[in-house]
Amino acid sequence: MLTPEDGLNQRADASVEGEAPLALPMEGALLTPIKMRLVFLGSPGVGKGTQAKRLSKQYSVPQVATGDMLRAAISKGTAEGKEAKSYVDSGRLVPDHLVIRIVQARLLEDDMRNGFILDGFPRTKEQADALFEMGVGIDKVLNFYLDEKILVSRIEGRRTCSKCNEIYHMDYHPPVVVGICDRCGIPLIHRKDDKAAVVKERLIVYQKETAPLTQYYEKQGCLFHIDANGSVEDVARRIQDACRF
Ligand code: ADP
Ligand code: ZN
Repeated sequence: MLTPEDGLNQRADASVEGEAPLALPMEGALLTPIKMRLVFLGSPGVGKGTQAKRLSKQYSVPQVATGDMLRAAISKGTAEGKEAKSYVDSGRLVPDHLVIRIVQARLLEDDMRNGFILDGFPRTKEQADALFEMGVGIDKVLNFYLDEKILVSRIEGRRTCSKCNEIYHMDYHPPVVVGICDRCGIPLIHRKDDKAAVVKERLIVYQKETAPLTQYYEKQGCLFHIDANGSVEDVARRIQDACRF
């Protein structure tokens, strides 16, 4: 059986023990030399969602943001949303089985054929292993890094639109009308988990569970480190320079 160390783009005909074999998504895509199957890693507040949205528009590849998907499930009140709610609100990670199921279903959809940007997944070693076992090739993993003080100020000033998921910042990227989404015209929200006490918990969880994934992907030779300091344009330029899409 293949292991992740054998290379990201090889296919694993593996199944999770005790469960039905995982479907192998994107039969055609697996054979296509596309370069846009990306994973964005980085701490909460690092700005990866903003960059993922930008790149997603630029190259017409979907952004798969697990945080957005979970919040949508929570506000719709689905069974998955109900299970996820207390974890998201308190800044802990939603159980792996739940996120893995959501991501796997999303990756099977047709619009994934030309690539995707996984924003917020994987966040644990178990999720990274599951992604590998889905047989989805990954071309590049971008690890965004930033000083913790700046992270905290970015998160605490962040406001989001619950409808279109656009991200604003009260000082660095304010909407035209204070507190209102430019696109949807509805009030922006200050996410519960973007408040100081929960932010602290999220940063701890990140260091413990997610930061080790940089070593996981480093071993596979597909990891790029991106300095996330500076303006949105500065960071976007660094992504282009590092990746040369
Ligand atoms: P940020 O970009 O600031 O890290 P997200 O919107 O990506 O925030 O995630 C918000 C919350 O959603 C996380 O704190 C966690 O509770 C949950 N979540 C998102 N992605 C995952 C994941 N891959 N595994 C477990 N929980 C997740
Ligand atoms: Zn909006």
